[in-house]
Amino acid sequence: MSQELTMATAQFKFNMGDRALQLRMTVPVDPVPLQSLLPMLHQLENQFVGVAVQRVEEQGKKISCCAGCGACCRQLVPISEVEAQDIADLVELMPEPRRTEILRRFAEAHDKLAAAGLLERLQNRQGLPQESVDANGREYFFLGIPCPFLEDEACSIHPDRPLACREYLVTSSPEHCATLDYNQIDLVEMNPELWPAVAKTDPVRRGDTFIRWVPLILALDWARNRTTEPFERPGTEWIQEIISRAANPNIPTATVD
Ligand code: SF4
Ligand code: SF4
Repeated sequence: MSQELTMATAQFKFNMGDRALQLRMTVPVDPVPLQSLLPMLHQLENQFVGVAVQRVEEQGKKISCCAGCGACCRQLVPISEVEAQDIADLVELMPEPRRTEILRRFAEAHDKLAAAGLLERLQNRQGLPQESVDANGREYFFLGIPCPFLEDEACSIHPDRPLACREYLVTSSPEHCATLDYNQIDLVEMNPELWPAVAKTDPVRRGDTFIRWVPLILALDWARNRTTEPFERPGTEWIQEIISRAANPNIPTATVD
């Protein structure tokens, strides 16, 4: 982010059920692309997750997640379009031979999805009913495709990982994650969920009524095929809208003017 941007600092209280989070954010007043605010949104998400973790720990539960435990990194991870671009840029800037290896993993996953007949369904994912999204998610998981960033069962892009990855925590045994047994998986309740708030704030087409999302595994394809340029708004407006959407997920999806 340019140092010449004019910045403003806001302090506010975000109510999270039985507790309130005091937030202080320094945000550009000038127009910026949403992507430039992702590091700030990662910090915000970490604070939301911190409260959710504190809540379950006060109930005597313990978070099971740790490095070296990566069954969940074989799930169909939903990310916002701005995060898909960010992932593509991250890969593009990787030094060799790492970049080539990561590209190879994405390509291998792409081939597996195509061979299983799931690629086309994932490409036509927007607006599907939740049952179809869930069915595709289960089918994806049982193909056993590791996230291209998973190394030694740990996330190799941990500081830059998507919002949905930050929000997925459990207190149940990892063995249930390995079989995707949702009757046994005890997910930590995340309220708010930030990734849909971001996805709904970054509209690219007029009139969409659903959350536009990208499977992490198709992030590079999405960025390669995108036909719209990112647009800019004052950073203060982006953040204000995202916070509002996080507080009230029922605000209608935004559209481009
Ligand atoms: S969600 Fe499950 S598989 Fe993923 S880190 Fe946590 S316990 Fe391990
Ligand atoms: S980005 Fe990291 S945390 Fe997210 S699925 Fe991939 S390896 Fe797992």
